[in-house]
Amino acid sequence: MATATKSRKSAGDGAVKTFQTKMLIDGKWVDSASGKTFATINPATEEVIAQVAEGDAADVDRAVQAARRAFDSGPWRKADARDRGRMLNRLADLIEANIDELAELETLDNGKPISESRHGDLPLVVDCLRYYAGWADKIHGQTIPVRGRYFCYTRREPVGVAGQIIPWNFPMLMVAWKWGPALAAGCTIVLKPAEQTPLSALRMGELALEAGFPAGVINIVPGFGETAGAAIVAHKGVDKVAFTGSTEVGKIIMRDAAKTLKRVTLELGGKSPNIVFADADLDSAVDGAMLGLFLNQGQCCCAGSRLLVEDKVYDQMVERLAAATTKRKLGDPFDPETQQGPQVDKTQFDKVMGYIDSGKQQGARCVAGGERFGSKGYFIRPTVFADVKDEMTIATEEIFGPVMQVLRFKSIDEVVQRANTTDYGLAAAVWTQDIKKAHTIAEQIRAGTVWLNCYDVFDAAAPFGGFKASGLGRELGEKALDNYTELKTVTVALS
Ligand code: NAP
Ligand code: MG
Repeated sequence: MATATKSRKSAGDGAVKTFQTKMLIDGKWVDSASGKTFATINPATEEVIAQVAEGDAADVDRAVQAARRAFDSGPWRKADARDRGRMLNRLADLIEANIDELAELETLDNGKPISESRHGDLPLVVDCLRYYAGWADKIHGQTIPVRGRYFCYTRREPVGVAGQIIPWNFPMLMVAWKWGPALAAGCTIVLKPAEQTPLSALRMGELALEAGFPAGVINIVPGFGETAGAAIVAHKGVDKVAFTGSTEVGKIIMRDAAKTLKRVTLELGGKSPNIVFADADLDSAVDGAMLGLFLNQGQCCCAGSRLLVEDKVYDQMVERLAAATTKRKLGDPFDPETQQGPQVDKTQFDKVMGYIDSGKQQGARCVAGGERFGSKGYFIRPTVFADVKDEMTIATEEIFGPVMQVLRFKSIDEVVQRANTTDYGLAAAVWTQDIKKAHTIAEQIRAGTVWLNCYDVFDAAAPFGGFKASGLGRELGEKALDNYTELKTVTVALS
């Protein structure tokens, strides 16, 4: 039979904590209707951490009904906007109060280095929730000067029940990006975390109950995409689906959501160009290229995986990148010195190793890494390929691993055209000290985010999302509130 709250020996500070393995429906922690569970694994050791309740269509139906009730007739709808904000702030405070434990849980389930969980992901989680707490009572309509004796105004109302399907690369941060705007707007939620990393979302669910969110406002159904995820997309009681993950699954979700005409937002993959000109501060460019690609074991949708370097400094950059890459510290993700942990699971490990083989076979020059690290855990040595050509598989497909492609260019026009020759359009970066060149290229690149002389700078206030096959809609910032609100026009006769 299914699950209970299990005791956890932290691989970090040795503290014994507990973690939640049931699903959250209508304010209660319950087993799956089928009684089934699935294992979640520590990717650094390949050991099972826990068995987690496996939700399917029956559980999603229970969760949607609870979310529907909470939205249609629960106290949540009548709550003052400012009190929604207070609850979000309380959740942020509780996360901050438990920040070490949550960072450990994230590292245990995902494999990311503890220094990143603790000082990267978790502070962004807290900041995102506080940012949206501030928005809760600032979602305004307008008064519209229509012709005739009418008073016309708009209301921005919550869209209803939001189905949220998230990936494993930033498990808690993706929860915050989804919950923040949805709760600020007054929606209720059915969340499905990724099968690889369900534990931190479940812990956030516990803290959300403690923060005072009423029963049914937040429901969490762990499980698999093809069953639980697909059931959220198909359910008539869900008004909107927000998805982050692969472009392939994004297309399926958009297609299936059409059957019930759900609102859809998608944050998908990328093959982002990172362009280094010879006039750049090369020390910063090297650091930016390393961060842009190797952060989070390369498992970032916005990874700068096509590093385009101007001819004149190409050889020098390749040499410096190879040296810096070889120095990266791999190993136990709980070691505070570790810079790179394992890939999230065997499937991702095999996929990335396959891309490394394809790079070698297609004639790219491997100047660093190119092989597995150790014999246990899904570790891959950070890898750099030089002499990469645009048509090679490693230059066109999203690898989602620690594999950098370095390409050579000669002119501005050429590099802009090549940077845009991709189905994706999530992010890009330009390194140059020439401000005109930087802004001109920022204008010409077809991508949702362009970083100039920096990379991976995220802020809860700055919109993020993709052009082309990288997605639909924007997350973060004021813009994300549109994803969770419907606009209503009210017209009153004055004579
Ligand atoms: P994925 O399959 O797109 O998974 C993302 C989420 O969607 C997971 O919660 C997944 O459930 C769910 N899902 C899968 N199929 C579904 C369906 N038919 N209906 C509804 N939900 C569904 O991504 P992945 O398999 O984990 O990774 C594959 C590749 O996707 C990666 O190699 C990478 O290229 C890309 N990716 C991109 C991002 C990003 O941030 N844009 C994040 C992760 C992965 P499960 O828990 O069962 O997987
Ligand atoms: Mg999957």
